[in-house]
Order: sequence, then structure tokens, then C-alpha cells
Amino acid sequence: SAHRNDDGGLRPTEEPPSSDSGSNAGPLAGRRAIVTGGASGIGAACARELAAQGAYVVVADRDAEGAGVVAKEIKGEAWAVDLLDTAALEELSLDADILVNNAGIQVVQPIEQFDPADFRRIHTLMLEVPFLLMRAALPSMYAKGFGRIINVSSVHGLRASPFKAAYVSAKHGLEGLSKVAALEGGPHGVTSNCVNPGYVRTPLVENQIADQARLHGISEDEVLERIMLTESAVKRLVEPAEVGSLVAWLASDQAGMVTGASYTMDGGWSAR
Ligand code: NAD
Repeated sequence: SAHRNDDGGLRPTEEPPSSDSGSNAGPLAGRRAIVTGGASGIGAACARELAAQGAYVVVADRDAEGAGVVAKEIKGEAWAVDLLDTAALEELSLDADILVNNAGIQVVQPIEQFDPADFRRIHTLMLEVPFLLMRAALPSMYAKGFGRIINVSSVHGLRASPFKAAYVSAKHGLEGLSKVAALEGGPHGVTSNCVNPGYVRTPLVENQIADQARLHGISEDEVLERIMLTESAVKRLVEPAEVGSLVAWLASDQAGMVTGASYTMDGGWSAR
């Protein structure tokens, strides 16, 4: 797994292999990426796409086993880390060209019943941790004159939804943080952007669909049609790989003038 070297930078335990690794060909060859929450869902898809385009990827997740599986598949490395342990992150320096802030959780409750501990936990993981990882990664990006920060926000970073007080406010905060990083990083060749998916087909959303189907006594297709996709123009869920390909493009050299932006991928939901 990843460890801190003598000068405090995070490096792989072994140098990326030159012959069979994904890091020797493709538009992202030679780039080092860190993807938080990379063991599952959108994060795993981002890790796969970045690796497919040639990057060497560190899969950071508290799910050590899941991170190991993805890392092995893409010939990257796993970093087993509970990102809620923020004290450790304050001391960290990261050697990365591409930072994907993706790890996230959801709690759905009306405000008056919302557990303050859940609120703080969500804000820590989804707003403070991206700040701490930017803080850890920016010095080496500035030194190289290149960096790509990609923040996995949500349509709920731009528009609200009832019962998601912590999630909506943390994602709105992430939008602001991303823009500040864009302004500070611009002169140093560092871009910072958000991607804003609608419902993506991840384990999290598939469970929600199954729950709703049981609750309403309807089929899972009917849940999609009648509940989740009523406002969407493209009548299907977003696939994780689609988010991954947008993230990989934002990480590319061609996207150097794209910064401080937020890229909605919601099948037209927010156009309505
Ligand atoms: P997921 O549950 O499939 O994956 C989240 C990953 O984050 C998991 O591997 C989990 O172990 C990891 N994680 C959670 N807490 C952690 C911690 N404390 N330390 C380290 N790792 C931790 O979720 P997903 O649906 O892929 O969501 C990923 C991101 O995409 C989140 O930020 C989410 O808000 C955002 N998003 C999801 C959707 C959707 O419909 N699924 C839509 C818009 C935005």
C-alpha cells in the first residue's frame, strides 16, 4: 500500500512497473492519480478509466479489500485509509498529478430529526477532506506546474433536495472550494473542476431502487420510470463509466483551459 517516504510525500511501495502497467501508454501516461472512494461505484469507474488512459492510480478507500481488488485489476496500488481520520491528513504531503475527491456518504432525514453527528461526519468527509487533500497535493503540483483536481459533486451541489441537509450543503460547499482552488491554481497550471452526476447506477442507488420497489409494491423498472427518472430527458440512470470518462477528460492536457467549472451529467434533469 501507499506509504509516506522520507520527505513526507506519498509514494507507491514499488515504482510503477514499466512493462505490463497501464502507465506506459495513453494520453495520461506518466501521470499519478489518487482517487478517494475508489473501491466502489463512481470512484472505481474513475480509477479504471484513468488507468485505461495510462495513469498510475492510487485507490484510496476505507474498504481495504475492495481497494485492493480494483488496484490489482488496474495495476495501481491500494491506500487503505479512513479519511475521517483527519488528523493524519493534516500531516500528509501527496505526490500526485491528478486528485479525484470522490468518497461520499448519504443520510436522508428531515432537519429537525437530523443527527448532528451525521451532519458533521458528512461535512468532514465531503468538504473538509477534499480541502485537506488539496492542501496536501498542491505543493507538488505547483512545483511541477501541472495539476488536475476533480471533485465529484452532484446535481445536489447546484440544486437542493429536501431531507438531504448535510449532503446538499456539503456539496454546495465543495462547489465553492473547487472554484477557489481554480483561482489559486490557475497561475501554476493546476485546474479544479466539479462533475455533477444525477442518479448513477452504483450499489448505493441500486439499493434505493430495490427499497422503493418494496415500499410501493411496484417493479424496479416502475421505480425508475415513475420516481427517479420523471424529470430526466434521457430515461435511464447514468453509468459509472460515463462519469469516469468525463473525469479522465478533465484530467487530460487538452482540458487546461477548463477550470472553475461544474459539469452536469444528469440526462437533462437540471435543464428542466
Ligand atoms: P459508493 O458507496 O458506491 O462508493 C463510495 C466509496 O467511498 C466506498 O468505496 C466507500 O468505502 C468509500 N468511503 C466512504 N467513507 C469513507 C471514508 N471515511 N474513508 C475512505 N473511504 C470512504 O458511492 P458512489 O455512488 O460511487 O458515490 C461516490 C461519489 O459520487 C459520492 O461523493 C457521491 O456523493 C457522488 N454522487 C453519487 C451519485 C449516485 O447516484 N450514486 C450521484 C451524484 C453524486
